[in-house]
Amino acid sequence: MYVLGIETSCDETAVAIYHAEKGLIAHTLHSQILTHNEYGGVVPELASRDHVRKLIPLINRVLRDSRLGSTDINGIAYTAGPGLMGALLVGAATARSLAWTWQIPAIAVHHMEGHLLAPMLEEQPPRFPFVALLISGGHTLLIEVSGMGRYCLLGESLDDAAGEAFDKTAKLLGLDYPGGPALSNLARQGNPRFKFPRPMTDRPGLDFSFSGLKTFTLNTYNTSNRSLQDKADIAFAFQQAIAETLTIKCKRALQQTGLSRLVVAGGVSANQEIRRQLERMSEKAGADIFFPRPEFCTDNGAMIAYAGCRRLQAGQTQDLNIFARPRWPMNELLNA
Ligand code: ATP
Ligand code: MG
Ligand code: FE
Repeated sequence: MYVLGIETSCDETAVAIYHAEKGLIAHTLHSQILTHNEYGGVVPELASRDHVRKLIPLINRVLRDSRLGSTDINGIAYTAGPGLMGALLVGAATARSLAWTWQIPAIAVHHMEGHLLAPMLEEQPPRFPFVALLISGGHTLLIEVSGMGRYCLLGESLDDAAGEAFDKTAKLLGLDYPGGPALSNLARQGNPRFKFPRPMTDRPGLDFSFSGLKTFTLNTYNTSNRSLQDKADIAFAFQQAIAETLTIKCKRALQQTGLSRLVVAGGVSANQEIRRQLERMSEKAGADIFFPRPEFCTDNGAMIAYAGCRRLQAGQTQDLNIFARPRWPMNELLNA
């Protein structure tokens, strides 16, 4: 069973083909970073237009790369939400129309389920049940996962998502969009000099709050000499604060659920320091930890093709409507 996966929820146009037994066959991606760079963030209308331009050529490319024809494909999975409405509609309308033309099912995939399942594409995938920490541009979620579609929310960010905090803080320090990777590069030159708070770790619970760190960064920056070394030291302190806060909450989530597997995914899980701290904690706690390979931490088509394949195997497909949902709570997902 071959499934074509399409991802257009934000600023990456990504396409992949996954085979139920053979695994990932091909994947490709176009990032819109250069399109949005000069605006310091994603411009929704530009994002939609670029998806329109790039999506069909990328679909042709994965078919060519995998030496498959349209008649080999058994289903088309697309990201139906959450994300930018215009961007989602490009993927949804294209996927739904192609599926109709090719007379095969279309499968609407939840973007965060895609991120959550991305570690399944690795050689040693996690077994259910596990605790998942999803840290991306728009979400910070701690979830107890008992199976496909069986997700119980343990905690979430009450304000900024982890990636959003990285991006906004980076912007404050004058770094380019997207700020996460830029800030973590700068932090490499930083020294331990400032001590930033670890928000919401001194009381029980698994929720997060990152917006205060942004203000703390701004105040520290404004009272410094604003030299390159000051910026690097601030970046270092910020990254340490995020990494330690996430680690404390993950440890707590493992204790609370009694589970011994931790899955970490989403764009921010590409961060080396966060990975390192979470690995160290898991080892001490006797838990196994799983990450996607770095290129599948951020948005990609492979995770959508994978999630679509599992849902298709469970018989879950979409009718002829074009389904796009900018806001879509994960607990409204069906079990597979
Ligand atoms: P969502 O998945 O919540 O809809 P998104 O799709 O925009 O949001 P992703 O593509 O999963 O988010 O991840 C992008 C985010 O990851 C950005 O905020 C980016 O700054 C952050 N990011 C990527 N690499 C790193 C890194 N090395 N360190 C920190 N943050 C990073
Ligand atoms: Mg992105
Ligand atoms: Fe994402």
